[in-house]
Amino acid sequence: MRPLRAQINLGALTHNLDVLRQHAPNSKSVAVLKANAYGHGLTQVAAALYAADAFAVLSLDEAVQLRESGITRPIILLEGFFSSCELPVISQHNLTPVLHCKEQVELLELMHFSHPLPVIVKLNTGMNRLGFRSNQLTPILQRLERCDVGEIMLMTHFASADEQHGITKQVEQFNLMTKDISYPCSLANSAATLRCPEAHRDMVRLGIALYGASPFADESARNLGLQPAMTLTSEIISIQELSAGEQVGYGGTYVANQSMLVGVVACGYADGYPRHAGSGTPVCVNGLQTRILGRVSMDMLCVDLTNIPNACVGMPVELWGEQVSVDDVARSAGTISYELLSSLTKRVPVVYDSVDD
Ligand SMILES: *Cc1c(COP(=O)(O)O)cnc(C)c1O
Repeated sequence: MRPLRAQINLGALTHNLDVLRQHAPNSKSVAVLKANAYGHGLTQVAAALYAADAFAVLSLDEAVQLRESGITRPIILLEGFFSSCELPVISQHNLTPVLHCKEQVELLELMHFSHPLPVIVKLNTGMNRLGFRSNQLTPILQRLERCDVGEIMLMTHFASADEQHGITKQVEQFNLMTKDISYPCSLANSAATLRCPEAHRDMVRLGIALYGASPFADESARNLGLQPAMTLTSEIISIQELSAGEQVGYGGTYVANQSMLVGVVACGYADGYPRHAGSGTPVCVNGLQTRILGRVSMDMLCVDLTNIPNACVGMPVELWGEQVSVDDVARSAGTISYELLSSLTKRVPVVYDSVDD
């Protein structure tokens, strides 16, 4: 069997939830499980994070899958609904849609539900992607109060919570917009949960940090006390002895300047490993740090075995996880860990390991 797999440490997820809750002890916590729980597996992650106060997903399908897996806590639909035919299903499963535009409110006004629907109203405080602006908010809330809605919560999303002073203006705008409104509020993502206590409010929304990656460019996950939940491992499937002047892989972008050993690893961009990770990207072989050489191809990539004693076919390779930070691999590929974790493809088997070490 091809040796590539993504190993999920469920104990790391519960550890990370505990760490994050200690940062915001007076707020409820939402585990954000969109994109197949950032690639970790929707229902398995939800089961491991049963202690979260609520869950959030993107699509109705994901929400129904969670309900059918036995989750009874609130489930938030981060973009609400896209058409009216979703509303009866939302009501039947007691889901909590986010309302971000007046068209959604118009659809709600046409519906009657057997029990009041909890909703979250999204405020645009400066990201200018989704949400109501200041002048729209009061009329929208008045209209909602005449609909079959139950609990109302207000939320906003930060554009730059991972940067210095990234939220100040948006928090000021949120406070201004809500100064005469007493509904509970949710503002913080992982970054703001870790660094901005003023944004914790009633409920924090935890994504990337739950999975053990850092939302910050200037601080590692390890330093934040987080444990990586996913370890992507494979093996060396071939070894090449290169002489000085010989090249490796497509385009011959790496040329050996002395004789050296190169290992071929069963992992490529069709598995979700970033093709933009160039020579020098960190990788671990048999527990020792080394680097990627040359271009990543569809099914394989090459690594430097120069400093790996007794290198042989079958030796274990870690692409990211416990030894190689996914944030470092992402940086090397010009992207962020969110993209790497959520881009693993179907052909990578995901295996679950609940040992907490
Ligand atoms: C994805 C998402 C989050 C989680 O963000 P992280 O940076 O991964 O913590 C929070 N809120 C909303 C609205 C989201 O879409």
